[in-house]
Amino acid sequence: MSDVYRKCPTCGLINLNRDYCKHCGVLINTNLRRQKERAQRLNKKKTAAAAKKPHKITLFFEKAKTHSNPIIRFIVLLFYSIWVVVVAIASFLALIIGYITA
Ligand SMILES: [Zn+2]
Repeated sequence: MSDVYRKCPTCGLINLNRDYCKHCGVLINTNLRRQKERAQRLNKKKTAAAAKKPHKITLFFEKAKTHSNPIIRFIVLLFYSIWVVVVAIASFLALIIGYITA
């Protein structure tokens, strides 16, 4: 492996084969920094997606699906499939209505 010199942008110290500044601990490896930034951005996207809450009823079913009683789980699954169909029809109707009025 060849020697890599990296200048710290904060204190100006030249570091040999280091990812972090010997003096102030700042990350000076640009590739590593970019990787980290990319990972952070991805994480942000993930948390943003998680923060986007699903429908209240959907949430209720998601919780109930893991119920300890198998009979309740079965009933919940049954109603959940009905709910999914209802949502599908509703969104389909909304699409048609939107298509007609547009
Ligand atoms: Zn430094």
